[in-house]
Amino acid sequence: MELRVLGCSGGEAEGNRLTCLLVNRSLAIDAGSLTQALTTREQVAVRQIFITHSHLDHICTLPFFTKNIFGHTEVPVQIHALPETLASLRRHLFNDELWPDFSVIPSPDNPIIRFSEVVPGQVYEVEGLRITPILVNHLVPCVGYRVEDDHSAFVFSSDTAETDHVYEVANETPNLKLFITEASFPNSQAWLAEASKHLTPEKLGRELKKLKQDVPVGIFHLTPGDRPVMLPELKAIKDKRLMLLDQDAHFRW
Ligand SMILES: [Zn+2]
Ligand SMILES: [Zn+2]
Repeated sequence: MELRVLGCSGGEAEGNRLTCLLVNRSLAIDAGSLTQALTTREQVAVRQIFITHSHLDHICTLPFFTKNIFGHTEVPVQIHALPETLASLRRHLFNDELWPDFSVIPSPDNPIIRFSEVVPGQVYEVEGLRITPILVNHLVPCVGYRVEDDHSAFVFSSDTAETDHVYEVANETPNLKLFITEASFPNSQAWLAEASKHLTPEKLGRELKKLKQDVPVGIFHLTPGDRPVMLPELKAIKDKRLMLLDQDAHFRW
């Protein structure tokens, strides 16, 4: 399996792209930076997109992506997400006001994108991979994903406050190579993390005790301006598995 981190920042600024993972060149998880990180050719190669939740930093390049691939693809790109997330995309984004409804363009029978509902816990076999959505604990309905092939697996929690199930799934995953989870705000903003259902380094430290596998833990979703404060706070967790997930990191397992 090949995993490319196209973006892993909790905020956008020069050099900091928003959440977007690319697996084996054809499957994306979230769409925070598809169009900033990929050439148009690489964008056309993306056939499946699994969205974790409706927040803008995870979906914002979908409109520009649909425009870029128009005319370059014969089969609709599948956009997989919870029903609530798809409803938000339809209602607020692909509504012909903010952006044309590419789920019926050029025709309802053969559109550019096709929406597909996911059910947490169900395994989806696509592009030679097995994808399992896992409910987490965020401000809106949100799933993390486990991505597996026959040799390796990684788990991505997406945005989440304190939660259990994603750790249970990771603990029982054979060939787990990487666990990705978040830290969004410094310890001094625990109230903000609580209100927006995110983690601080301190909260993350308590969460990681639930992970029983000795695998690297990649941290994503730091707010760019808070990095200088948060890096020592993450170090203070003293968990040897912990590392920062780097933009443009490339994993091959
Ligand atoms: Zn979010
Ligand atoms: Zn986010």
